[in-house]
Amino acid sequence: MSTPVLETTTLTHEQKLDRLAEVAIRVGLGLAAGQELVMTATLDTLPLVRRITEQAYKAGAKLVTTLLADEEAQLLRYSYAPNESFDYAAGWLYDGMASAFKGGAARLAVAGGNPALLSQEDPEKVGRANRAVSKAYRPALELITRHDINWTIVAAATPAWAATVFPDLDADEALARLWDAIFAASRVDAPDPVEAWRSHDAGLHRRADMLNEKRYSALHFKGSGTDLKVGLADNHLWLGGGMTAGNGIYCIPNMPTEEVFTTPHKDRTEGTVTSTKPLSHQGTMIEGIRVRFERGRVVEAKADRGQEVLQEMIATDDGAGRLGEVALVPHSSPIAHSGLLFSNTLFDENAACHIALGQAYSSCLKDGDKLSKEELTKLGANESLIHVDWMIGSGEMDVDGITAAGDAEPLMRKGEWV
Ligand code: ZN
Ligand code: ZN
Repeated sequence: MSTPVLETTTLTHEQKLDRLAEVAIRVGLGLAAGQELVMTATLDTLPLVRRITEQAYKAGAKLVTTLLADEEAQLLRYSYAPNESFDYAAGWLYDGMASAFKGGAARLAVAGGNPALLSQEDPEKVGRANRAVSKAYRPALELITRHDINWTIVAAATPAWAATVFPDLDADEALARLWDAIFAASRVDAPDPVEAWRSHDAGLHRRADMLNEKRYSALHFKGSGTDLKVGLADNHLWLGGGMTAGNGIYCIPNMPTEEVFTTPHKDRTEGTVTSTKPLSHQGTMIEGIRVRFERGRVVEAKADRGQEVLQEMIATDDGAGRLGEVALVPHSSPIAHSGLLFSNTLFDENAACHIALGQAYSSCLKDGDKLSKEELTKLGANESLIHVDWMIGSGEMDVDGITAAGDAEPLMRKGEWV
């Protein structure tokens, strides 16, 4: 699918920011009149954050509360905080977020931080700090992975992120180019962005419906350094694009989104897999990941860069070494087509097939939102404090769907839908 691009020169940067804010609130979040909004962002994204706030109030928001993180302050912690700081997280803050969500608030995250912020810091401290946040954030995250509330993530260009994507350009040009890429991927350049999103969303739903009719028992990925069989959970459900949250509000959780995804069976992944793009995880870069699975569990994990952070991540808990998501994305997705490496999961995961270690989405199981933890586990849904997507797809990747009878049907060849 291509996005109609016209008259982009007639729109100013300010107008495009307004449009991005509008699709974030109207299409991504589907914010209801009278609903409260909790937003998280970094300081550098303020111009977009303010516009989103404006659009939220215009849509009838009761109250918009934004939690702004300062990346410089985060670095100061690594330089000067006592050692025990890194096992601590502001639990009171995450409890507050969980209580806001339970009270009906929607959740919007603005992604745009420095992908390599912590890459010079002690990986052991980074790992401990991540684990502390994961534990503290768990009650709030559960409401999101169960899709109890409407939520979405949108992106904003920042100088540090732009410098990572365009290392050879000067700062102003890099920032402008990154904004262009974000506007294009977020369909803000289309004559009617809201309508462009509606039709894109419908296309993703058709793809998911097709896969749901097939009822494959497994997917087989074959590419350079990858020979991986991912068994799918019993009663798995493919999703793509938007969904109706438990509070009855239709939302599109990621902007952009190009994936259809489902829940693997936590005990049924076998073989080896190699990452095809670097993974920016909580401010550290992990590159050249090679992992071997046996009966669903990671038994070998190596990386050319960031191996220690990878192993810390997998050691988070038992479920951190098992899959919670498998997603199919064609190599010709508009984001892959840009040819850019964003070093930001929101973008890179929509440019390639990917898998995620950790927590499964219960919405990817039939009636999953109504099942108890025990029932979900029985169907094969994984449970963990983490959910980390990483990219395995490429223009070389072949994917077969394995039927219940064990026959292989070609799904993707050289990265494209058959
Ligand atoms: Zn995904
Ligand atoms: Zn994911």
